[in-house]
Amino acid sequence: MSRIVTRFAPSPTGRLHLGHAYSAVRAHALARESGGAFLLRIEDIDGTRSRPEHIDGILADLDWLGLDYDDAINYQSERLPRYAEALDRLKAIGLAYPCFCTRAEIAAEIAASAHAPHGPDGALYPGTCRRLTAADRAARMDEPHAWRLDTEAALAEVPSPLTWDDAHAGTVFARPDAFGDVVLARKDAPTSYHLAVTLDDAAQGVTDVVRGADLFAATHVHRLLQTLLDLPAPRYHHHPLLAGEGGARLAKRHGAPALADLRHGGMDGPALAAELREGRLPSGYSLAPAGVED
Ligand code: GLU
Repeated sequence: MSRIVTRFAPSPTGRLHLGHAYSAVRAHALARESGGAFLLRIEDIDGTRSRPEHIDGILADLDWLGLDYDDAINYQSERLPRYAEALDRLKAIGLAYPCFCTRAEIAAEIAASAHAPHGPDGALYPGTCRRLTAADRAARMDEPHAWRLDTEAALAEVPSPLTWDDAHAGTVFARPDAFGDVVLARKDAPTSYHLAVTLDDAAQGVTDVVRGADLFAATHVHRLLQTLLDLPAPRYHHHPLLAGEGGARLAKRHGAPALADLRHGGMDGPALAAELREGRLPSGYSLAPAGVED
């Protein structure tokens, strides 16, 4: 079996909480138990929400927990040309189209439709800009636009069925069509989470993606992008999310204590990491049952 390579890929848009520590510890342990590599990727493509102080906080948290990582840190903001190249490839084969819709226009179109299709993330993009003529598109290219994947056309290009190997769920049949025409590049960023994460997992040689069950759904899309771009499929380990008091999922918005608070409060970081590695959670915390993802 090839050497295991895992990664921790936080977005520096806020302070990390215990759920992040749990994910990082699991990814680190999976690699280290077999002499593999554990990599760090900073997912800082969101220029308006990413902050240098959060990057500093992530590094300080990992250091406090005693989680050492291999190789140089991968900053997504430094890899924009690679994402653009991949997007160009999808454009060249006619699988990406410009989308000029505003959020309000999309919401209005969905509201006006009696049978708007829904996926796991809510109502799907209604495909308005997919139906534009080439001449209409050409005339509007000066307007702000995102790029979307023509998912139905893309599915016709790849072998069926698309599957992935999931450590918790077994063999999963990918259904990217359930997500509609996902965004490949945003109006305000030259890529999207889906495109950047797919390219970077391959570029960093990640064999095993360890991440929370909240990203299980995204893997349907990632498998399609990997196949279209001739990238290998990693194994996936979507672990249960942490819940706090009352069973609510930990998230920054729910006021979960940040790791920085625990760190400054004098908690022993390596001892916490050792507990998490054994699957023991601090009192008041539990693993959310599968399905409690948002
Ligand atoms: N950057 C994502 C986050 O912080 C995680 C991406 C991933 O693990 O695929 O939620």
